[in-house]
Amino acid sequence: MIFNGVDFDTYFNDYPDKDGYFGPYGGVFVDENLKKAMAEITDAYYSICQSRKFIAELRRIRAEFQGRPTPISHLERLSDSLGGKVQLYAKREDLNHSGAHKLNHCMGEALLAKYMGKKKVIAETGAGQHGVALATAAAYFGLACDIYMGAVDIKKQAPNVARMKVLGANVVEVTHGLQTLKEAVDAAFEAYSKEYENAIYCIGSVLGPHPFPMMVRDFQSVVGIEAREQFLDMTGHLPNAIVACVGGGSNAAGLFSGFLNDPVDIYGVEPLGRGAKLGDHAASLTFGSEGVMHGFNSIMLKDENGEPAPVYSIASGLDYPSSGPEHAFLMDLGRVKYDVIDDDESVDAFYKLSRLEGIIPAIESSHALAYGMKLAKTMDHGSVLINLSGRGDKDLDYVIEKYGIR
Ligand SMILES: *Cc1c(COP(=O)(O)O)cnc(C)c1O
Repeated sequence: MIFNGVDFDTYFNDYPDKDGYFGPYGGVFVDENLKKAMAEITDAYYSICQSRKFIAELRRIRAEFQGRPTPISHLERLSDSLGGKVQLYAKREDLNHSGAHKLNHCMGEALLAKYMGKKKVIAETGAGQHGVALATAAAYFGLACDIYMGAVDIKKQAPNVARMKVLGANVVEVTHGLQTLKEAVDAAFEAYSKEYENAIYCIGSVLGPHPFPMMVRDFQSVVGIEAREQFLDMTGHLPNAIVACVGGGSNAAGLFSGFLNDPVDIYGVEPLGRGAKLGDHAASLTFGSEGVMHGFNSIMLKDENGEPAPVYSIASGLDYPSSGPEHAFLMDLGRVKYDVIDDDESVDAFYKLSRLEGIIPAIESSHALAYGMKLAKTMDHGSVLINLSGRGDKDLDYVIEKYGIR
C-alpha cells in the first residue's frame, strides 16, 4: 500500500534509514563517546537480531516466561452499552508477565545485552514502571541492573522502588536539580558513557538516539503481529480501526506495526491531562514543535527557553514531553491520526471497563479505551481494536483517593 509517497510494503526496510531517520525525525544527538557506544549497539543489533539462535531464544522466553501470546478479548458488554452497532476488542497486554507491555522490549534488550557479552543494564525511571520491567529482565538473565531515579520520584513511588529492590536492582538516587525524570535521564546517560564497555543502556520506549526507537519498535512488534492474526482468526476480517495510548509511544508502535500496510484506520491517543495550557498536559505531538532532546529529533513540548517543558497527566507512564520519532513521521504522513483524552475521560473509561468487563485497566490504557469508545459512537458499524497496554492495580489507590468510587 502506498500512502502519501511512502510504500508500506517495504516500510520496515526503508525506515529508519541507515542513519536512524524516519523522514526528518530521529538521528543520534549525543557526544562522541556515546556515538561510539550507539554504533556498537546498532552493529550488534543488526547482526544478532538476524541470528536463528537469538530469535528462537526470544520466542521461547516469550512463551515460557512472559505468557505470550496474550489474548484478544471481545468486549461484549461494553459494546452493548454503546448501542451494540460497533464491536470493541482489547489486546490484553495487561496479561503479560509483570502486568504491562514494557517487558516485551526489556526482555529483548536484556537478551541483546547477554549476546553482546555485557554484564550490566542501566536505565532511568520516572514512575518506576520501566525500572521494574528492566529489573525483572535483569533478574531473569542474571545481569546487574542500575536504575537511576530522582529522589522526589523515589519518595512518591515507594511500591515500585520496593519491587526493583526485591528483584535485585540497584536503585541510584539522583539528588540534583528538580530530582525527577529529567535529572535521572542525565545521570543515567553520564554513568553509561563511563561504563559502556561493560554495560548497555536500556531505553524504556521508542525514544532516544538510534538504534533505540527502531529496536524497541521491533521488540514490541510482537503485539501487532499477534493481534492481526488473532483478530482475523476470531472474526474473519480486520478491525476497522485500532487505538493505542502514546506516551513515548512503544505500545502504540508495537500494535500499529502489524496494521500499517492494511486498510485500517489507526489512532494514537495523547494525554490532555487537566487541559490545553502548557504544563497541564503531555500531548506533545498535538501541541509540540520540532526539536532535539534526550539524543533524538522529534516533536516536543518546549518552554520559553526551548528546553523540555514541564508536563502533567494523571497517567505517569504518559507524561513525557516528546514522543518517538516514528510517531512524528507517521503523523506528518497522515497514516496515523493523533488525538487527545483528558484525565476525567480516562477515569470514566477505567471504571466502565472494570464494571462491564471485569478488567481493571492501567490509567494509561484507559486513555486508549476512552478514545475507542468515543470513536465507536461516531461509527454505524464495524469493529475497533484497543491496546490494553497494562493492568490498573498500580492506579487503584490514586484513582479512588482523587475521584472516589464512580
Ligand atoms: C509506560 C506505559 C505506557 C506508556 O509507554 P509507551 O511507550 O507510550 O507505550 C502505557 N501503558 C502502560 C501500562 C505503561 O506502563
